[in-house]
Amino acid sequence: MSHVLSKSTFMYGCQCPKRLYLHKHSRDLRNPDDEQQQAIFDRGTNIGELARQLFKYGVDASPPDNYSYHLAVAKTTALIARDVPIIYEAAFQYEGILCAVDILVKQGKHWYAFEVKSTLSVKEQHVQDAALQYYVMINCGLPLQDISIIYLDREYVRKGALDIKQLFTTTSVLTEVLDQQRVISNKVKVLKNVLTQPEPPAIAIGPHCFAPYGCDFSNHCWAHMPTENSVFEFNATTAWKLFDAGYHHLDQIPADYKLPPKATLQLTQARSGQVYIDAESIWQFLQPITYPLYFFDFETIMPGIPEFDTCTPYQQIPFQFSLHIKQHATAELEHIDFLGDGITDPRPDLLEAMLTHLGNTGSIICYNMNFEKGRITDLAKTYPAAATHLHALNPRVVDLMAPFQKQWYYHPEFHGRYSIKAVLPVLVPELRYDQLEIPNGSLASLVYANLKHQDAITSTLQRQALREYCKLDTLAMVKLYEVLKAV
Ligand code: SF4
Repeated sequence: MSHVLSKSTFMYGCQCPKRLYLHKHSRDLRNPDDEQQQAIFDRGTNIGELARQLFKYGVDASPPDNYSYHLAVAKTTALIARDVPIIYEAAFQYEGILCAVDILVKQGKHWYAFEVKSTLSVKEQHVQDAALQYYVMINCGLPLQDISIIYLDREYVRKGALDIKQLFTTTSVLTEVLDQQRVISNKVKVLKNVLTQPEPPAIAIGPHCFAPYGCDFSNHCWAHMPTENSVFEFNATTAWKLFDAGYHHLDQIPADYKLPPKATLQLTQARSGQVYIDAESIWQFLQPITYPLYFFDFETIMPGIPEFDTCTPYQQIPFQFSLHIKQHATAELEHIDFLGDGITDPRPDLLEAMLTHLGNTGSIICYNMNFEKGRITDLAKTYPAAATHLHALNPRVVDLMAPFQKQWYYHPEFHGRYSIKAVLPVLVPELRYDQLEIPNGSLASLVYANLKHQDAITSTLQRQALREYCKLDTLAMVKLYEVLKAV
């Protein structure tokens, strides 16, 4: 018998009943597939498989494909009847609701359910999801004694081989799950009813479009919003306030509407089409910057499962840097970079290259310096022998993002943003990220993390693309610095 709701579709419905409806009845309206979103999903799958080692020698009840969950339900029923004590992906169906629990364990006469999450804590949505699983399993007659979430322990530090018992931590959510049973039962009825309607529920866009997860129907539901000069170019609080008051486009905002100072400047420049420049503040910002100038940028990966010794789950690991150096005002621009091999821990060689080339004096110019400073501090903790040298770098760091973030330089075409990706195309249109094979840092991390699985030719091409991407980040900084100097 096919199911009406699964655990995922139930969660879609909890986020927004319209999302559930569209997922079931208008799948063609979904946003195009997102490669980075898929990578996050794959990471969850890997972590789930690793957690099975906490309960070894279980029998997998997974279906052969996504359309054959009835086979998984039948297999689970048979395994329980045979008293198999550990079942992976145990599937249950009750009144058209299907759910599969990652690990089901029998001890004595009772069963214990474990759901694996690739996060560093138990989130509200994990409890909701466990509450549905509990509801289905209990109503299927399973004597379930407890239900727990297994997740990554942020305190775990890898030393040698992975220690699975230390890597994961387990928390029972039974009390919260029991509290939610009545709500779940009602919610199931409401959502089933939503699915029988001829039209999707009339639900307006709202903060629920992004939480707890980004909705994959946003292109469809947000199509009525202006693509430029929308109120969503302000920060979220201001934007939703305006939206709720009925304003979608900046032109609709009344002249006497009271906005916060940054939004006021943004709106004024959008209306006038003029660039705003606070030359005095920019001059003050530039004063402490001294030659040699080091334009510096890291790229990082954040593996959930620590790959190298001394790493914790989701620690940011720098694998690459680009450095443009200008020794003095009329010197030729030099470029140096480093890229790990994609296999071994990149940090020791990266550290050596950094310290060799960043010198002892002169400003280190970054864009969003807290990121670079944070990685330098991490490296100092991991490599105490280099700590003095590393700690001497951070006071030299200057944040080139500040003049744009603080709106000392504001162009209406920034549309309220100040990231390098937003500022560069407006001020230095000849430098383009969108023509690169790797146009953003998230893709760079993904490509690097997968280098070890590529053949030699692909790996060579992708390494070149990574180097071009990171090089553009620091060249962009050189050019933006020149723009500010010319003010
Ligand atoms: S985009 Fe927003 S309103 Fe539309 S289905 Fe998704 S969550 Fe609901």
